[in-house]
Amino acid sequence: MSSELTTPRAVDEVVDLVSTLIRFDTSNTGELETTRGEEECAKWVAGRLEEVGYVTQYVESGQPGRGNVFATLPGDPDSGRGALMIHGHLDVVPAEPADWSVHPFAGTVKDGYIWGRGAVDMKDMVGMALALARQFRREGTVPPRDIVFAFLADEEAGGTWGSQWLVENRPDLFEGVTEAVGEVGGYSLTVDRPDGTQRRLYLVETAEKGLGWMRLTADATAGHGSFLHEDNAVTAVAEAVARIGRHTFPLVMTESVSEFLAAVSAETGLDFAPDAPDLETRLFKLGSLARIIGATLRDTANPTMLRAGYKANVIPQKAEAVIDCRVLPGRQAAFEAEIDELIGPNVTREWITHLDSYETTFDGDLVDAMNAAILANDPDGKTVPYMLSAGTDAKAFAKLGIRCFGFAPLQLPADLDFAALFHGVDERVPVDSVIFGTKVLEHFLLHS
Ligand SMILES: [Zn+2]
Repeated sequence: MSSELTTPRAVDEVVDLVSTLIRFDTSNTGELETTRGEEECAKWVAGRLEEVGYVTQYVESGQPGRGNVFATLPGDPDSGRGALMIHGHLDVVPAEPADWSVHPFAGTVKDGYIWGRGAVDMKDMVGMALALARQFRREGTVPPRDIVFAFLADEEAGGTWGSQWLVENRPDLFEGVTEAVGEVGGYSLTVDRPDGTQRRLYLVETAEKGLGWMRLTADATAGHGSFLHEDNAVTAVAEAVARIGRHTFPLVMTESVSEFLAAVSAETGLDFAPDAPDLETRLFKLGSLARIIGATLRDTANPTMLRAGYKANVIPQKAEAVIDCRVLPGRQAAFEAEIDELIGPNVTREWITHLDSYETTFDGDLVDAMNAAILANDPDGKTVPYMLSAGTDAKAFAKLGIRCFGFAPLQLPADLDFAALFHGVDERVPVDSVIFGTKVLEHFLLHS
């Protein structure tokens, strides 16, 4: 009896696990030479799983040190169902300590928050999954079906040396997995009702915009900067960049976005009809999240890089630009046609990186299990689908036919600017939110 009482449960150790995970500096710079820390962190995660009895697989995804860890908790052998995967990435975006009020890799716990790079993206979820994996194993839990725990490298650089590589080269690791949950969803958005009360909506990610980094190139004639010169590569690229940067793509309501807006309308009484002229302005009544939701109403193409020339009096032969393109489900061909019109005949384009959009429906047993898990812990809560304007590892897993959702549950304070914390200075997550999320995930994993 006494040993049972002293065996820690997930909620007892999750804060410590998240804090320790943050202390591994797993900054992903996007360059192989300067990205480090994933291996050490992955091996530490594997150790925490092995010490409670898991057999783990440590896999490097195409480059030395790009560490990933897999472990499976066997479920009901008679279920006849595919496995559920819960995945999280171990890498984080870099942080500049001088800008922060605590050291970004100290894992500080104070004022009710866990502070540090990765606190919301996404060592919180990694810690919750790890804590629950340990609890289930210690307690001999047999879930309704197999649960695959996956801890991954390189998400912050698009998964080239992480999920994308694993899906291309080691599909065996995902054999039998039919559904998956990861970031970015399950967190609460508190909305104001007309009667003055509030309600928490929990946003389940059912869709992601496509991600495309496009290079524009103009090849023209080099020459002396003092001569008459009609055929200037810098001018050609600059014109194309300016046209793209000022272009507004058409408003397109996808299933996920219209379901989300309908749910918010039902609670708040705000009219989000697609033909309302001030739809995007009205979105800002939802707070900072409007920056994400607003970006899911249209394709976007933001110029991010320019490169040309090497001397003030030499017209270069070549000029280049990079455009960060985010394309809605079903819009790829139409988007590319619009881009071609904008860049004109003298500039060529190519995809440096291209990951398709993703969208699934908000229904079925897994969605019911998410809803039940939220209600068990927040009886007035409500799950709603939404689209993420960015991308996650789900894009890679979707290629294997795995049905993916963003469900990393957190109950957030109503006034917290959650969106600003992603990749932001003083990234932090409320301790209570992580405890809540752990309880929700426990319920979810035991009932899905
Ligand atoms: Zn992330």
